[in-house]
Amino acid sequence: MAIQKCPICLATVTPNPRYPRFLCRQCATRATSVDGRQLEFANTDFTGGFAASYADSGEEYPSHECYVDGVRCHADEARFGGIVIEAVAEARVPHPER
Ligand SMILES: [Zn+2]
Repeated sequence: MAIQKCPICLATVTPNPRYPRFLCRQCATRATSVDGRQLEFANTDFTGGFAASYADSGEEYPSHECYVDGVRCHADEARFGGIVIEAVAEARVPHPER
């Protein structure tokens, strides 16, 4: 069986071919906005859905983008319930043409 690691802290996680770059539970709880505010993610109801908010104010956070240790990540509803956060592959960031 393949070994899969959290892309942030390199802890061994349960391999999941659907989410090859998902963050371990501990790193997922540290997700912040680009300006460093703690975020909270939740399902909107028992069927799933996705909702994000600022942990400090409860204000809606209208994005799936989040950051953990400066690594850009994407949070979304997991296929079988709950929330999954995956690191965005940096190689896919376009190179500026100068
Ligand atoms: Zn981790």
